[in-house]
Amino acid sequence: MENSPLFNAGKGAVFTHDGKNEQDATIVDGATGMAGAVAGVKHIANPIDLARLVMEKSSHVLLIGDGAEVFAVTEGMRLVDEKYFHTDRRWNQLQKALAKEREAGEHAVRLSEDDRHGTVGAVALDKSGNLAAATSSGGMTNKKFGRVGDSALVGAGTWADNDTCAVSTTGHGEYFMRGVVAYDVGALMAYKGMSLEEAAAAVIHNRLTLREGTGGLIAIDRQGNFTMPFNTEGMYRGHLLKGGQPVVKIFRD
Ligand code: ASP
Repeated sequence: MENSPLFNAGKGAVFTHDGKNEQDATIVDGATGMAGAVAGVKHIANPIDLARLVMEKSSHVLLIGDGAEVFAVTEGMRLVDEKYFHTDRRWNQLQKALAKEREAGEHAVRLSEDDRHGTVGAVALDKSGNLAAATSSGGMTNKKFGRVGDSALVGAGTWADNDTCAVSTTGHGEYFMRGVVAYDVGALMAYKGMSLEEAAAAVIHNRLTLREGTGGLIAIDRQGNFTMPFNTEGMYRGHLLKGGQPVVKIFRD
């Protein structure tokens, strides 16, 4: 999905205020508790692969910007030219956001869902009962000053623990960071004994919504129950069960 221009990750990433593409990604392994993440990388075609290298080949969890790219090269990853990430659709979105900002002033502009649509997340349960989660995102159109989103932060945008669940989030990242949303789902299951569905609904429909945050998440537990709550008009999502056909949805059921 990072190779498709349709998603806000890899090839289709949104543009920053300065007309760059700066990407965030995180992966968490629920069996081992290991995690890897990158933030603000500009020359990595598949940021989630780099996050995985951080998890598997470094002694760190989160690498940022130039340093993350030096690490990528030392691990044999090829850097791509910034032009690779250009898509007219995302460029035009930035121009619209800049025009709105000029008219209304920076703080009057509330980002619409179109300014970010398309973060890529995945949660999985394998046949041995292991959970994992991953998220990759270009972040939010017109982001400034090296802004990093929840997609780069373990616990905010991505979480997995074999004892509870695997979670990947999408939405206005500032709210997901303040609420440590992905971890919160697992914490409600562990400490309050909630089911996956109850915990995820409480986090999105109560906690996030009360704080006026917008977005959603996908989550799966060890029994293979899954849930995909959101408080926006729609959320691109899909699932595939063993032996079944892929199911894809955008709006509510
Ligand atoms: N959560 C991402 C961010 O704030 C954007 C998104 O998921 O739409 O960077």
